Amino acid sequence: MFYKFQREFQNAIFNCGVYKVQIEEAVEEFEVADNTRKKTYHVTFIPDSHDCFCSCKMFESMGILCRHVLFVIKGKFLTEIPEQHILHRWTKDASKKPIFDFCEDFDDHLELLLERLSAFEEEMKPGKENVEQQSKDKHIELFVGSNIVSGGILPPNKSSNKGSGTGKRKKVIKR
Ligand SMILES: [Zn+2]
Repeated sequence: MFYKFQREFQNAIFNCGVYKVQIEEAVEEFEVADNTRKKTYHVTFIPDSHDCFCSCKMFESMGILCRHVLFVIKGKFLTEIPEQHILHRWTKDASKKPIFDFCEDFDDHLELLLERLSAFEEEMKPGKENVEQQSKDKHIELFVGSNIVSGGILPPNKSSNKGSGTGKRKKVIKR
């Protein structure tokens, strides 16, 4: 990530230029020409908060500021990147903060989970198949009636689906 940022910074210095500026009291808009991509990007800068947005959406997708925003920041003589644009995951403290915030009754949930898991384990032990099959049968019975197939029903006779070969079929004469 450091090298990606370095590349963006280098490009901000050597390959970007301002094409158009529109400065209002609360918002400053820049059209920044990117020489490497031969395209122009729209950068919005809020002087009060130092919030920056670029139409290339690099910060939104990768979490680092793009060359276009860096170019504008340089032009504003800001000596540091605005802190809202430094994501926690790129800082040295990233590993210190827990990734998940556990809820207060986490221990209770964990205990319940363990209880259910051991019950499940018990159920999966060999010798339980019959009990399981019985409960399965009960479920099937509930929906479609008995699952037991009574004897005496034979499969249907096999019928031949090919011609009899007697030659009795009339031939169609085309005219
Ligand atoms: Zn950009």
